[in-house]
Amino acid sequence: MNKQRALVTGGAGFLGSHLCDALLGEGWSVVVVDNLLTGRRANLEHLRNEAAFEFVEKDICRPFDVGRVDYVFHFASPASPVDYTEHGIETLKVGSLGTFHALDVAKKYNAKYLVSSTSECYGDPLEHPQKETYWGNVNSIGPRSVYDEAKRFTEAVTMAYHRYYKVDTRIARIFNTYGPRMQLNDGRVVPNFIRQALRGEPLTVYGDGSQTRSFCYVSDEIDGFIRLSKSNEHLPVNIGNPNEFTILECAQLVLKITGSKSKIAYEPLPQDDPKQRQPDITKARTLLGWEPKIQLEEGLLLSLDYFHKAVAAEVSPAR
Ligand code: UDP
Repeated sequence: MNKQRALVTGGAGFLGSHLCDALLGEGWSVVVVDNLLTGRRANLEHLRNEAAFEFVEKDICRPFDVGRVDYVFHFASPASPVDYTEHGIETLKVGSLGTFHALDVAKKYNAKYLVSSTSECYGDPLEHPQKETYWGNVNSIGPRSVYDEAKRFTEAVTMAYHRYYKVDTRIARIFNTYGPRMQLNDGRVVPNFIRQALRGEPLTVYGDGSQTRSFCYVSDEIDGFIRLSKSNEHLPVNIGNPNEFTILECAQLVLKITGSKSKIAYEPLPQDDPKQRQPDITKARTLLGWEPKIQLEEGLLLSLDYFHKAVAAEVSPAR
């Protein structure tokens, strides 16, 4: 019997590439479509000789067709504040046009579909922790809006294809995820802090460091996606680790696990930086039987080897 074939848009990115590994492990044949704007070939290098794997360099903002697929995993988008600020227009286009085109593929082949959405849909939340039913507090014209509104639109198009065309869709709302293959210079807090700690440079805490995030290790996040992909839930599901830390606590943990003597340097808080973020994962727990297993200190330790090598090679510019 022929293998089932999955399309992963954005499969050369941090999360997309880990998803490819998981799907191949589950017996899928996988085709990645990525324009390498923020994704990297290096993330897929280990799959070069894998017969069940194909890579297609293509921008999904134009209509595309890679042949019959049974599942569409739509993961294409710049995802770090530094990346989406630099590529604001591309971020809006991939969230809108790219999403239409990914959904058109699913519609054409009657394939199932799962899209990576984000906790940014909640903006600077007034409800804490955030449940899927919360509509959010997003500044539609601020610097983060290129990402936040693109993802909110992504969700709207996805629900419309489900309602109007009966496409079998799923929406994962991702909370801060970290682990090996993160781009060293993508500007997110975990790679920034670890890189700074390993180089003996000050850890740049924005604001007073009292803002919170809840960090999910990549293997837990991927396990959540796989479970969601097998479910019949069409409304959004939070996939994140509810264990909440202040950014200052995160900095201190990085100093502890690296044994670094780096100091903390306080820098201005970026505009519209959410003050707190914590997923309510009751829905994922009950619906998917999913529970994150790896807490922040252990996950940082698991990531350290990758970051040591990346810092030693300073590989990050080679996108
Ligand atoms: N942050 C920080 N120092 C850094 C990078 C980020 O203090 O070098 C803070 C940032 O202001 C935010 C949090 O860490 O409050 C998480 O930022 P990140 O860019 O990782 O993701 P976000 O959750 O904001 O999308």
